[in-house]
Amino acid sequence: MLVGVPKEIKNHEYRVGLTPAAVKEFVAHGHSVIVEKDAGTSIGFLDEMYENAGARIIETAQEIFAEAEMIVKVKEPQPNECLMLKEGQILYTYLHLAPDATQTELLVASGATCVAYETVTDNKGGLPLLAPMSEVAGRMSIQAGAHYLEKAHGGSGTLLGGVPGVAPGKVLIIGGGVVGTQAAKMAVGLGAEVVILDRSLPRLRELDDIFLGRIHTVYSTEEAIEHYSSRADLVVGAVLIPGAAAPKLLNAEHIKAMRPGSVLVDVAIDQGGCFETSKATTHQDPVYIIDDVVHYCVANMPGGVARTSTIALNNATLPFGLALANKGAKQAMLDDKNLLNGLNVHKGLVTYKAVVDALGKQL
Ligand code: NAD
Repeated sequence: MLVGVPKEIKNHEYRVGLTPAAVKEFVAHGHSVIVEKDAGTSIGFLDEMYENAGARIIETAQEIFAEAEMIVKVKEPQPNECLMLKEGQILYTYLHLAPDATQTELLVASGATCVAYETVTDNKGGLPLLAPMSEVAGRMSIQAGAHYLEKAHGGSGTLLGGVPGVAPGKVLIIGGGVVGTQAAKMAVGLGAEVVILDRSLPRLRELDDIFLGRIHTVYSTEEAIEHYSSRADLVVGAVLIPGAAAPKLLNAEHIKAMRPGSVLVDVAIDQGGCFETSKATTHQDPVYIIDDVVHYCVANMPGGVARTSTIALNNATLPFGLALANKGAKQAMLDDKNLLNGLNVHKGLVTYKAVVDALGKQL
């Protein structure tokens, strides 16, 4: 199969669909790969690395879309990219169609077979192509929080690890899933005092086993949120209720009660945020201050570490991508229901129920 990798064109998106290492795997399986000029240059994946891996470098996205049988990307296609897709072509990327009627209509009109990373499943019901980005965001949340706790960045001037003779900073993590667990690992690594709240007792038991007493697990009630947030230096919001907007767990009163210079990192901001005062920010302008509390609410945190995120994403997308190329979309999906769950649009029809439900009957 001829696989095409266009350069991402969304504002400040530096990730790329395939790394040179992934290209090498496709080539080793007998496929040809074309990569747009400078697709990975800004994160250190130079054109010559792609050529050494066996790819051909192509000048324009138009040529990639015109020639390739499968397009591998990171972000949802922008309208001009949708218009270049062709009937029978496979599109393999994040799509997030439910809130995006315009993109859905364009993909339907293209006749392409569109596989969304975010709905591919694993045998345990998890979302293996979303998990790497949650891992990245979870680890970054503590790095960002520690940065903004510094006095010069608006914080209280607290070092999360403390020093001998000075007690460490207090980190509250609300939601102990993928993001929360990775945040806890980083916070523990820095020497902070860590509390994780979750609504799932089985999950709290697992966390207790993972961290062997190094963190405190607490069942998530309003009272627990009020108590632990009022004494925290850093609060990480990491909850998810699948298919729903994030619940507002910290209200404006809770936030007012925090020590001046404390920091909130609302990782769940991509689902609307779990703090009442959260509004989405960008890597260019990541924080704002309300009631002396620093709010970090970047909706695409993994984009800030685009090189690590690209490699992590490729580790997860490669096996499914190879299956699509080796067997063709139809056979690959007949053989693997987890990959079939990724099919969102096919030959002019929306094939993913949640997208149909969200966008109504017009599709
Ligand atoms: P996950 O499903 O692995 O974990 C969510 C956890 O929240 C679960 O353990 C669940 O039991 C818990 N939870 C639900 N309601 C709760 C409540 N009231 N109190 C405490 N815990 C509660 O999800 P995840 O992969 O860790 O993702 C967490 C959030 O981070 C999601 O909203 C996701 O979209 C978001 N995210 C954001 C970025 C970003 O760049 N901002 C990147 C990746 C993920």
